[in-house]
Amino acid sequence: MRYYLLRLITDLAATTVRWSATGRRRWGLPGTECPECGGGGGGVGLDYPSADLSSLPEEREYRRARLAPWDEYVRLRDLCSPFLPPGAVVEPGMGMGPLVGRVRGRPPQVAMDGVWHLYAQPEGVERLVTAGLRGIKPEPTALNVSRDVPPLLELELLVAGDYALKYRPEPLGEPCPICGIQQTTEAPYLWELDEASLPEADVFRFFHHPGCIIASERFVEVLRGMGDTGIRATEIVPPAAREAGAL
Ligand SMILES: [Zn+2]
Repeated sequence: MRYYLLRLITDLAATTVRWSATGRRRWGLPGTECPECGGGGGGVGLDYPSADLSSLPEEREYRRARLAPWDEYVRLRDLCSPFLPPGAVVEPGMGMGPLVGRVRGRPPQVAMDGVWHLYAQPEGVERLVTAGLRGIKPEPTALNVSRDVPPLLELELLVAGDYALKYRPEPLGEPCPICGIQQTTEAPYLWELDEASLPEADVFRFFHHPGCIIASERFVEVLRGMGDTGIRATEIVPPAAREAGAL
């Protein structure tokens, strides 16, 4: 199976798609700094739109993006964990709940914005599901749309996958005893996926860079069948092939 990186096409000459979404996540974990190693995590792309904190008495504490002391972060992290999907990767700055804001224009059936979100119109979800693609989990947004535009859904993605063994960074020392962060050698610039690490999903976020959305050949085929979606799919090929100019 071939795998592809999905990215928004930003060159306006290369796509006729014109739409935009502006919004913020309803809830989120604060950023923090580990008192032992100083690590913080970034949380870029780490969002769980299905996590509904509205029944949590402390819900308001998740509304404002901020930096918090480590102990406060741990308390909020532990309180919200029952609301997260199974196997969720949790980091400081992680987002939860729907995106709240507005959409301008008419998004294509499957759409990306300039950040790291993957959206679908109800019709797009149906096409993905009908094609038998795995890991399609549409969640509602609170993004206002024009009256003649269908509501926009967001696809909640698993965070998974690893570098193939020969590209995998080496651990340096032991993981931090407080936050668990493992220091490693530098991450590779060019890499391949380890097939054995892949989830039961045709689209997911890469574990090492959750802002990076990876799709299977089957997903990309369905996406291309939708015409111009403003999304570019770039195949993940062995670095040797890339250097030889095969791409
Ligand atoms: Zn630490």
